[in-house]
Amino acid sequence: MTDDDPRRRIPRTDAVTALPQVREAAQGLSQRVLTSLVRQAQEKARRGTIQPEEVVNETLAAVRHFRAWSMRPVLNATGIIIHTNLGRAPLSDAAREAVAEAAGYVDLEMDLASGARARRGAGAHAALLSACPEAEDALLVNNGAGALVLATTALAGAAEVVVSRGEMVEIGAGFRLSELVASTGARVREVGATNRTHLADYEAAVRPGIGCVLKVHPSNYWVSGFTAAVSVGELSRLCRARQVPLVVDVGSGLLTPDEVLPAEPDIAGALRAGADVVLASGDKLLGGPQAGLLLGRADLINQLARHPLARAVRADKLTLAAMEATLHGGPTPVQQALHVDPDRLRARTAALGAELDVAVVPHEGRVGGGGGAGVPLPGWALHLPTALAAPLRTGSPAVLTRVHDGACLLDLRCIPESQDQSVLHAVQQALEQQPAHVGATAATHCAPARTDSAARRGG
Ligand SMILES: *Cc1c(COP(=O)(O)O)cnc(C)c1O
Repeated sequence: MTDDDPRRRIPRTDAVTALPQVREAAQGLSQRVLTSLVRQAQEKARRGTIQPEEVVNETLAAVRHFRAWSMRPVLNATGIIIHTNLGRAPLSDAAREAVAEAAGYVDLEMDLASGARARRGAGAHAALLSACPEAEDALLVNNGAGALVLATTALAGAAEVVVSRGEMVEIGAGFRLSELVASTGARVREVGATNRTHLADYEAAVRPGIGCVLKVHPSNYWVSGFTAAVSVGELSRLCRARQVPLVVDVGSGLLTPDEVLPAEPDIAGALRAGADVVLASGDKLLGGPQAGLLLGRADLINQLARHPLARAVRADKLTLAAMEATLHGGPTPVQQALHVDPDRLRARTAALGAELDVAVVPHEGRVGGGGGAGVPLPGWALHLPTALAAPLRTGSPAVLTRVHDGACLLDLRCIPESQDQSVLHAVQQALEQQPAHVGATAATHCAPARTDSAARRGG
């Protein structure tokens, strides 16, 4: 480097980070991140991309642009309500507020009146019991899989868990229930055939001394044709007679029946039919945070709560707060999307269609996330060229559409009406980015088949 080399004029790192304007802009950032942003600006000056005098402004711009977390909000325009890749259930307003408040110090395990230690998560516990009076007791854990592991570990130990062969499903991303149960050390005893299991199959396997009988709702697929399954009621009579606990995994977490999903089992119904312990996910149809719910007989729930593994799968304070608020607060976004008024949906879609000059087509939404398998939810979508799917995904706000049959379908079912204008602007932006000649036919070639399957995937 010669004396007049401009690189000599590049300010030193500590000189930049010490500047008041930089310190102020970087208040929400760690020192490590700030240093690396300064280094990136210095590197640009070294390469001659910017002038040495621009390092400070370059740093300031980078600092202001930097977000301390990388997950971005997405407008879900797929029509799939519980979209695993988008974080399943969006929280209700009440649950969002509860999470924000619980983020600080809270009376999680303290009775403020006496100053004494109190039961952890008493509010969420009470909310669960009031939402499901059929249960004698309830326990909240980290997720549905955790609930299943805890139930089989605590009730079966190394003994047998009897389960129908037709119910040993894979619920997503190579995650198999039988492997999960077997991983606890329990012996999985499959009975019946994939398409048919009869009471006699269970009768041959269920005897006093085995761990438990597990009935699983295979929520993400259904067997049609020559099929048979044994109801919770029938199983319960057998299990009572042989003094074996009956555990029912309803998966999707519907608390009570919903007329839109007639085939979906609900927690209250399973308990009324005689299940001893019912388990479900918190972030599917229940519309709450990621959680595992265990409800049922007081002696068994108590046994689960006292098992050492309960500590390993316990729910954190944010989950407890969000679950209580989900149960006590107004309608969840999941319920709203499930029960959206088709005429209103059509009017909203038509309004955007008119602004954008694009067609509105009938489009069926889905429950997704391993719930309401195969139940179509009649609705509407904007019919856009497939070439728009990628710019919409990467735009601001990000909008995920459904690429299907040579079209990019934009379904407003899962989008709050208050966001319709944001959707409109996002589509206008994406259209502006398109070369003028791109029409529906040219765009078809860009349709990435994977986008579609990824967007549709539940589980
Ligand atoms: C989703 C599901 C689970 C797993 O629940 P997570 O909350 O994802 O851990 C277990 N069983 C069934 C039947 C399910 O549908």
